[in-house]
Amino acid sequence: MDCIFCEIIKGNIPSTKVYEDDFVTAFNDLNPQMPVHVLIVPKKHIASANDIEENDAELIGKVFLAAKKIAASMGLENGYRIINNCGEDAGQTVKHLHFHLLGGKTMGDKII
Ligand code: 5GP
Ligand code: ZN
Repeated sequence: MDCIFCEIIKGNIPSTKVYEDDFVTAFNDLNPQMPVHVLIVPKKHIASANDIEENDAELIGKVFLAAKKIAASMGLENGYRIINNCGEDAGQTVKHLHFHLLGGKTMGDKII
């Protein structure tokens, strides 16, 4: 399998890791859209949010617990946004489930 995020998780492609536990890795986005732009990635290869299965439920919970810790460690006590792009129409470019953690300034544009 040719997955860039699996290679980052294994350390075969360099990244700036900001968090890691047994289930989740998080690293700075290569092309940051905000002062803080971290990608939170489950270590298990899941292609997209649409490919999450029943037995992944606990893992997804761990992603959000990691997000909270990362946000605190990066000084985002004023708030942050978590975004997942799922599939073609949403513009998902990397086919390994990931959540964008964005913060560090007031976000004007809201889709919802
Ligand atoms: P998507 O568009 O799939 O929701 O988000 C993919 C994100 O991965 C993009 O924001 C892009 O900048 C980031 N990205 C793509 N390749 C790499 C890489 O090799 N290293 C890092 N750190 N980020 C990457
Ligand atoms: Zn992968």
